[in-house]
Amino acid sequence: MTSGRFAPSPSGDLHIGNLRTAVLAWLCARQSGREFVIRVEDLDRVKAGSEQRQLDDLAAIGLDWDGPVVRQSDRARYYDAALASLGGRGLLYECYCTRREILDAPSAPHAPPGAYPGTCRDLSEPEREQRRSTRPAALRLRSDTDTFTVTDVLHGSFAGVVDDFVLRRGDGAVAYNLAVVVDDAQQQIDQVVRGDDLLSSAPRQAYLASLLGAVPPSYVHVPLALNVDRQRLAKRDGAVTLRELDGRAFGLICESLGLSGRTPRELLDEFDVGRIPREPWIFVP
Ligand code: GLU
Repeated sequence: MTSGRFAPSPSGDLHIGNLRTAVLAWLCARQSGREFVIRVEDLDRVKAGSEQRQLDDLAAIGLDWDGPVVRQSDRARYYDAALASLGGRGLLYECYCTRREILDAPSAPHAPPGAYPGTCRDLSEPEREQRRSTRPAALRLRSDTDTFTVTDVLHGSFAGVVDDFVLRRGDGAVAYNLAVVVDDAQQQIDQVVRGDDLLSSAPRQAYLASLLGAVPPSYVHVPLALNVDRQRLAKRDGAVTLRELDGRAFGLICESLGLSGRTPRELLDEFDVGRIPREPWIFVP
């Protein structure tokens, strides 16, 4: 059985834009006969109590999910196994660069803007030995391409940058790009519905999935909710959480999608993934 998913980071309450994305993910999964799973992405930015509040809000809005909630913090063994497999194939290298050094480095010829310039890619063993004593190494992917194309229901065929991105940070934490790929593959997630702020990460993730022997999922990157200044919706914008919106959240989400119903299940007949609005949702509390 294949699945769709919603993968919140428990860093605070979900706002109405996050809830809308969750409703869309649920609709896409349920309408296509997939299972729907919740994965808590708690590798960093965790706020105490936030996970339970998020789950309560998802249930309160009428979403249900299959199987137990999965937490990334319980899954280190899978990330370690993926790193071991990539490392064994010579696809990892240590990187000692600081953010500043990366910004200051001349970019490699033909490298797309923002791509890692490759400073540590071809160091000799004595050079590595010397740099290891300066700071703990991150692990980067030794990528053999600089672009990869994914298929997105709303964005079509999308080609984006793939560079030697970090898979394990210098502090030992697993990078989001590794965790998400390992989890999606292992949880048999073949449809990823999430905010379009992550569209530019999809080519890296799909490329990594292919290196790990997984078929990249199909994507549905949905527009975000923005405030009137067209910035990401945040707490300071006023009443934006389920509790603050006091019973109005689901109705507002339906309205923004041009759908009507009292529960997510009531939207299933009418919902059409191809007709998700392509523009950001400007939310005025
Ligand atoms: N945890 C990420 C977030 O809350 C979403 C990651 C994903 O859906 O791939 O922004």
